Amino acid sequence: MKLRCRRCNAPITLDDFTYIAYHGHTMGANRVEVHYECPQCRYQGGRMLPQTAWDELLLSYLERDERTVGEWLLTQQLGPITDEEIRAMRRALYEGNVLESLREWERARRTERAE
Ligand SMILES: [Zn+2]
Repeated sequence: MKLRCRRCNAPITLDDFTYIAYHGHTMGANRVEVHYECPQCRYQGGRMLPQTAWDELLLSYLERDERTVGEWLLTQQLGPITDEEIRAMRRALYEGNVLESLREWERARRTERAE
């Protein structure tokens, strides 16, 4: 799955997101709302993705990125993303595919808490 600008069709990358919000659903179909600013034409768009599509998208980004999820989140001025949402994101990623970067992040978090 790839996310492209609705106006000019440029690919949207990890750094183009301006807002991410999880919308939990009681019937099990969670959705993720993402807003982006196109790197090419500056169009500000938004999409509502099924969680599975978002997980797949995030994985495809992170597989090509040197940063860990934690590092990426720290550099972003994202919207009201909460710790619980980050945990949900991490759980979803673990279930789908285990990335070394996520394991590193998990280890770093555990070390922080132990100190
Ligand atoms: Zn565009």
